[in-house]
Amino acid sequence: MNKPIILFDIDHTLIDTNKLKKQTSAALISTIGINKKLLADAENRYIKNLSHPHDFRPSSYIKQLSQYFRVEKEILNDIFFKKSELYKKSLYPEIKTALGFLSKKANLGIFSEGGKKFQTAKITLSEIKDYFNKKIIFVFRKKQSLKVLKLLPSKSIIVDDDWEVIKTLVKKTQTKAVWINRKDFAKHPLAPTITNLNQVRNLI
Ligand SMILES: [Mg+2]
Repeated sequence: MNKPIILFDIDHTLIDTNKLKKQTSAALISTIGINKKLLADAENRYIKNLSHPHDFRPSSYIKQLSQYFRVEKEILNDIFFKKSELYKKSLYPEIKTALGFLSKKANLGIFSEGGKKFQTAKITLSEIKDYFNKKIIFVFRKKQSLKVLKLLPSKSIIVDDDWEVIKTLVKKTQTKAVWINRKDFAKHPLAPTITNLNQVRNLI
């Protein structure tokens, strides 16, 4: 029998994105030698010009910070793409155990939204990339578009923290969506709900 396929969202599912952002900002503040407020102002200016927060790309953010604060781009680039400890510290505590267990029972992949370079850096630098099968890594700017949904293997289990994504998957695909809710005890009306990734083993 073929192994089941399980696809994971990255942000707020595998990686505590708020924690990663905090750690990255702290590294930027100390490297550039500015205070919190100056970085927050620069970040707000950058975000304001994006059409969607998912369009955040380190490369364009770095370019803007480098021009504004007169810091070499390379130094800032290293914070986003070389500091693996920031990423490792931002994994939710159960991720490695859960992926280790599940990778023996299933083919694991990714279903994520954003820029390919940054999303790939998140799973590479946090050292979880080897748990995933390269052929089932889906990273798109808009993952709920019909064109993308059509690529998803039917019957695959998809774990995501986004309530709307779960709704879309249930209504428009043949996949088995699972909502991960780490914030409270609310349940999704349309899909099984879990509070941490170790619970996925009960669903395969
Ligand atoms: Mg997410």
